[in-house]
This record gives sequence, structure tokens and C-alpha cells, in this order.
Amino acid sequence: MIKIVEVGPRDGLQNEKTILTTEDKFKFISLLSLSGLKNIEVTSFVKATAIPQMGDATELFKMVQSQLDFGHLNFPCLVPNIQGYETAKKLGVKEIALFSATSDSFTKKNVNATVEETFNRMQEVAQEARKDGIKIRGYVSTAFGCPYEGAMDVAKLINVTDRFFKLGIYEVSVGDTIGVATPGQVRSFIKHLKTSFDLKNLAMHFHDTRGMALTNILVSLEEGISTFDSSAGGLGGCPYAKGATGNVATEDVWYLLHSMGCETGIEISKLAEASKFILEKINRPTESKFLRAYLNTGKV
Ligand code: MG
Repeated sequence: MIKIVEVGPRDGLQNEKTILTTEDKFKFISLLSLSGLKNIEVTSFVKATAIPQMGDATELFKMVQSQLDFGHLNFPCLVPNIQGYETAKKLGVKEIALFSATSDSFTKKNVNATVEETFNRMQEVAQEARKDGIKIRGYVSTAFGCPYEGAMDVAKLINVTDRFFKLGIYEVSVGDTIGVATPGQVRSFIKHLKTSFDLKNLAMHFHDTRGMALTNILVSLEEGISTFDSSAGGLGGCPYAKGATGNVATEDVWYLLHSMGCETGIEISKLAEASKFILEKINRPTESKFLRAYLNTGKV
């Protein structure tokens, strides 16, 4: 069984210009949950002034919790700081995601802190979450390359991943934030990661900016990775290459996995329905080649 973490409602919509109503976001998440996806990242508890797309986090999570929380679904939420954590905790969020990167230039631009400082900030949040019995996932951005520093060394990734595990997180998502990773680099990085960590606790988060996402996923599978992040319909552009593709589409990942006989638990017609709904709301075509073909032919 391959675990897919659906990041469309958060990572996807955060990077789309259109700001949707809470009802539309809820409907999208609700359709996604009917497709068999078990892990759906709902929102981010950031200040609305910082990321207006996520400004309704509290309202949205309340709707998800009261109407979709059937016990067997995970609805993680991104938490940037202790204030966000307190809000999430009060609402009854059961899983949070924390984030850092391998590049100081990137974290400085993003959250005005060095990598070291992001871990100092996360320390307090992680400590509280552990005490409160809330699960923690970690995101490492710029794992393969940084828009400001270029190619990244695997030693930095190992170091940041190790620091995440020391915070008590259960899964680290290794992010190719600007979509520059290549299959050879991915294979080499995973071989290094394997020597320090159990691959069961690692996820890969690829972007299709340069068309390599599925190939990178195939290589990751061959090397023993069994968890992947993806975004329904390929939602979310790339803020570092205007107009370019961001997150790999869940439908494309499904087609690859399905072709190899890997179980995902996803019912593709239902997933396509969710993507179609949200793409119409933001008024843009899908980035997913599979979804385009599927919607045009009605066939897998
Ligand atoms: Mg992403």
C-alpha cells in the first residue's frame, strides 16, 4: 500500500491567486475524502494578512471536524508558530505539520529566520504538541535545490531530517520546492538517507516544474519510499517560476502507481470529480495530463 498525502487544499490553494469561499474549500475537501484519500492537509494556521488564501483556517477546520471527521481520516494542518499551534490545539487538530528547509537564504526570505532559528522556534511547538498527544509531520523545503543557493548537498538534508526526528515528529516530507530534482540525484539522495533513517518515516514531495516528478517518484519507489505528497489536479503553481507547474498531480501519481499494481485506496472517478469541482472554481485548466485525458474521454 502506498500512502498519498493530499496537499491540494493547503499547499495547492495557498499558491493559487483566487481566494475561495470557505464553503467551496469545504466541498473540495469533502469530495476528496470520498475518493478514498486518507490524509488530507486542510489548511494553515497563519495570519490572514500573511496568506489571505488561508485566512479562514478556523472556520474551515471547524466544518471539516464536525462533518468529515469519521475517525479513520487524517486532517493535518500547517502550523507556523506557537500562536498557530494554540489555535489548532483549541480546535482539536490531531496532527500538525511544521516546516523548515536546507537553505538559510530560503528560510530567511520565507520566514525571516535562519534554518537554525526555525528549529529554535519549532522546539517550543513540538514540545507542546508532544505533551498534548498531537502528531507532528515535518516538511523540508529546498531539499534538492534552492532558488537562491542552487543545488543542495545531501549532507544538509540529512542534518535537517535528523533534527526533525529529534523534535519527535513521525514523518519527514522531503520537498523539491522548485522542481529541479533529477532521477539520478533522487536515487543518490535516498541511498544516503537510507543509511541514517528508516525510509518508512520519509515521504517525497515532488514538483513537476521541469517535468521530472513522475520519474522521480518511480526512482523513489525503486529505492523503497512508500509515501508521496501530491495535489489534486496539480493545484498550486510555482512561486519561483511564474506560470510554471508546482505540485505533482495526485491523478498522475495514481495512474503511475495503478499501472504498477500499487494500491492507493483511491477511487479515480471520485478524485477527478473533486479536482474538476475546484478547478472550475479557480477557473483554470488542470496541470495533470492524466486528468485532462480522463475528463475528455471518461476512460482511464
Ligand atoms: Mg508543494
